[in-house]
Amino acid sequence: MSKWVLVTGSSRGIGRAIAIELAKDGFNIVLHCRNRRDLAEVVAGEITRLGCNYRILQFDISERESAKEILLKDIEDNSCYYGIVCNAGVTSDNAFPAMSGKEWDSVIHTNLDGFYNILQPLTMPMVRRRAPGRIVVMTSVSGLIGNRGQVNYSASKAGLIGASKALALELAKRKITVNCVSPGLIGTDLLSKDLPVGEILKMIPARRLGKPEEVAAAVSFLMHERAEYITRQVISVNGGLC
Ligand code: NDP
Repeated sequence: MSKWVLVTGSSRGIGRAIAIELAKDGFNIVLHCRNRRDLAEVVAGEITRLGCNYRILQFDISERESAKEILLKDIEDNSCYYGIVCNAGVTSDNAFPAMSGKEWDSVIHTNLDGFYNILQPLTMPMVRRRAPGRIVVMTSVSGLIGNRGQVNYSASKAGLIGASKALALELAKRKITVNCVSPGLIGTDLLSKDLPVGEILKMIPARRLGKPEEVAAAVSFLMHERAEYITRQVISVNGGLC
């Protein structure tokens, strides 16, 4: 039976590229979106063309109860996942003195609470598979070195690194690896339209933005069976930014 991988936030951007790359590797994909089911359906078409199967789940990862209910129903009706990619995430940038409670909460509730809301219900079912498994969590260069205007986002992404490393310790004996991928600046909708790209490119040794496919390549590597001895790590894909 071929293996299934859940990729959160796979309607667009990096998650879409990950879903397609993993389908090229032969995995069946559980696609996930919040609002853009139309785009998730387009990704589903590409997965079918690659000869793989898919399902689509739609829910807000910051909503704990509905996330749990939908995920548990999905694995009960089908089978538990070999891999999970916690990719969905948001920004809500502002200089810290001007940052509203809403801006802080929305980013923490989505990015950091999303880790709990997705992985906590799925961990025991993954353990009960009694087979190797893979968890990959999308962090960011902002979580490693901080970024101005992103105190909320940097906090959430640094928190994800700590959470992933702790979970890696708990699951290592069960042959389930937990790693982070940490992109630098990648050309997707997430980048603010006001970003001073010219200035930023000067700080990136590779002198260009990354592509979603370049992040997907790192996830594909970690998802592979032969990556079984790599756990509790953070792999950066950032053109040498840090
Ligand atoms: P995009 O904005 O292009 O896509 C975000 C995806 O996440 C969409 O599929 C969206 O679903 C989904 N999503 C957003 N919020 C929620 C939510 N509350 N519940 C469920 N799904 C949600 O982002 P990117 O592809 O650029 O980013 C993907 C990940 O990579 C994020 O975690 C981001 O922090 C991280 N990252 C990105 C970088 C970049 O430069 N782009 C740099 C470093 C890290 P829908 O389409 O339905 O709205």
